[in-house]
Amino acid sequence: MYDLVIQNGTLVSNTAVWQADIGILGEKIAEIAPHLEGRERISAKGMLVLPGGVDPHVHLEMPTPTTTTSETWATGTQAAAFGGTTTVIDFVEPGYPRQPLLEAFRERLSVAQAGSSVDFGLHMTLCTADEDTLAQVRGVVAAGLPSFKLYTTYAGFRLDDEELLAAFEAIQKAGALAMVHAESDVILRQAALELQAAGRLSLRDFPQSRPAIAEKEAVERVLSLAAFAGCPLYIVHVSTRTGASAIARARQDGQAAWGETCPQYLLLDESRIRTSDFSGAKFVCCPPLRTPADREALWDALHAGDLQTLGTDHCAFNFRGQKELGRDSFLEVPSGLPGIELRLALLYTFGVKTGKITLSQWVDLCSTAPARLFGLHPRKGELIPGADADVVLFHPDRSVPVTHAMLHENVDYTPYEGLRLAGGVHTTLLRGQVLVREGEWVGHPCTGGFVPCSSFHPG
Ligand SMILES: [Zn+2]
Repeated sequence: MYDLVIQNGTLVSNTAVWQADIGILGEKIAEIAPHLEGRERISAKGMLVLPGGVDPHVHLEMPTPTTTTSETWATGTQAAAFGGTTTVIDFVEPGYPRQPLLEAFRERLSVAQAGSSVDFGLHMTLCTADEDTLAQVRGVVAAGLPSFKLYTTYAGFRLDDEELLAAFEAIQKAGALAMVHAESDVILRQAALELQAAGRLSLRDFPQSRPAIAEKEAVERVLSLAAFAGCPLYIVHVSTRTGASAIARARQDGQAAWGETCPQYLLLDESRIRTSDFSGAKFVCCPPLRTPADREALWDALHAGDLQTLGTDHCAFNFRGQKELGRDSFLEVPSGLPGIELRLALLYTFGVKTGKITLSQWVDLCSTAPARLFGLHPRKGELIPGADADVVLFHPDRSVPVTHAMLHENVDYTPYEGLRLAGGVHTTLLRGQVLVREGEWVGHPCTGGFVPCSSFHPG
């Protein structure tokens, strides 16, 4: 007799779709089989039953030079749960130059722990790659952070080629995974200088300040450097056809490389930014939204398995008071889009329902693949005995238009306003506790915990 049984659902894994019940004891899945008995029962008749979503790329309560993202750990993780995501992976960014990495980790952990309603992991950001910093990499991995974020651009974050190579070598030796934001700094600086000289700093000019070739150049370069160092490499927020195909070629050559894309690059394009008024600022993110041809190429890459995960890069700024900081120059618009709540529903609607990807690919992209890559599997990412009972009941045919009012994200707009969803989350469980039932929050807040990730072993 189990504590809880989820009955009569259609289970979806990254390899199969089948009918079974899920028996839950305490916080864990105990058995998956037909006709299980439990003290409590939840009917999943007519529902898809999935492992809780794992969003590998979010920014909650993130300070920037001019403001802080509007989404707190408390609001952002509840929004995640409403959308079927039960684990998020955010970032540690050292708070001052050469802050000891573990000290930065402990500071971030205490903020996250106080507010998180879902489980979470953390990636470590390396803003420098000197000997003293790289000597700390092993200790960071031992603390449960086996993934390191590196940037090829942004003042205060950018590493040059020599530093990237040194970081890749240290990450490889520590059994960890490198994640790179790949845009060519030299191309971005030159493009911005030319626009500035021409007095072209209105929103319409923003996409040209970060051209697609900047992504291609940086993706190809970091792939080569990582290959030389033997370091496994994950490219975040791939936005272009050429970026995706560079990763595909490296993988065909046998390189340990993976790519992530985000809902905004699959569903929106640069025309959203080129509005006659300032509302296009709602769509400013880096890398920028691209062309319809890039969107199609990214869908093809998901279908072919050339990109492996869907993260949101959820980085929310209010239009009023925050995006508005850039009224006079796009250079001052805080860059980032919200999306933490709609990830599963958007990929289901525009991927599964249109036949671009299968149900199993959907689950793999949103849950299983990120759990495996970031050392959360088998605790997260799959419905199997022994795993945490993070379970989502998903309504497979519910047609609703997206409105800002229906969402729980703490930001004053959604970039997906008006799109029609074909399905949505019905119930979300975290470690056996129901957090969301039929669109209502029924869980305790702040029940999430830090999940130490194990060191890198894909497969
Ligand atoms: Zn990001």
